[in-house]
Amino acid sequence: MNDEHSQTPSSPEHSIVSLEKLNKHFGSLHVLKDIDLDVTPGEVLVIIGASGSGKSTLIRCVNGLEEYQKGRLHVDGKELLPYGKSGQSLQAIRTEVGMVFQQFNLFPHLTVKANVTLAPLKVRGMTSQEADTTAERLLERVGIADQADKYPTQLSGGQQQRVAIARALAMDPRLMLFDEPTSALDPEMIGEVLDVMRELAREGMTMMVVTHEMGFAREVADRVIYIHQGEIVEQGPPHEVFDNPRNERTQNFLSRVL
Ligand code: ADP
Ligand code: MG
Repeated sequence: MNDEHSQTPSSPEHSIVSLEKLNKHFGSLHVLKDIDLDVTPGEVLVIIGASGSGKSTLIRCVNGLEEYQKGRLHVDGKELLPYGKSGQSLQAIRTEVGMVFQQFNLFPHLTVKANVTLAPLKVRGMTSQEADTTAERLLERVGIADQADKYPTQLSGGQQQRVAIARALAMDPRLMLFDEPTSALDPEMIGEVLDVMRELAREGMTMMVVTHEMGFAREVADRVIYIHQGEIVEQGPPHEVFDNPRNERTQNFLSRVL
């Protein structure tokens, strides 16, 4: 991997995610400006930046939850076209990309186990026995096997977020996107969710993580990018970005959050 701050570290052919000069507007608001970014297999990329800088929009573009207007975007070799014109490749990409949101977004009328088996049954065409076995294994992995028959509202926030991670993993994704997964949690529950993410990273999952947990970023990220008003103004290994930020805007941001 390339350790230079300002360079894109690899070529699109070897990337799981590749953005080239990606531009996104909400009406007259230019939210993402010429974003160049490659994420390589097994890489853990942490995205930091102030509120409103475009972090969520960036990762939502990667699984087609937001359309973009200009540039190119490839996910696992498939092209996602601008203006939402991707058709079947969008469906293919969504089955390969797991997403975890700040607000868990579990289905409230389904049990924990049913939340996890739903997509594998409907989209992957698993038998109910296969889906059950997968769900049990994943709930075990995130440490809540004993909660399988409860409903989301009967669980703590930390437990619900771990269900959300298990649900995403049930599709056997090539890439996991996390958008501030611990921001809605009570402080005492943040650690249990970060532990699951740390373990996933250790097992080699490719991850794009928007977070304000700088300790996690420092420890787990292979690369940190700092976004300011829709532009990547700094990137590098965590020790460089955190200990020796070169850009004044990064320095200001870090002095406020660290
Ligand atoms: P972040 O996640 O870094 O806080 P966002 O990506 O959510 O930032 O938002 C970037 C900018 O885009 C903000 O100015 C926000 O108000 C705006 N924005 C986000 N979503 C929408 C939307 N659906 N419609 C209009 N503007 C939006
Ligand atoms: Mg956001």
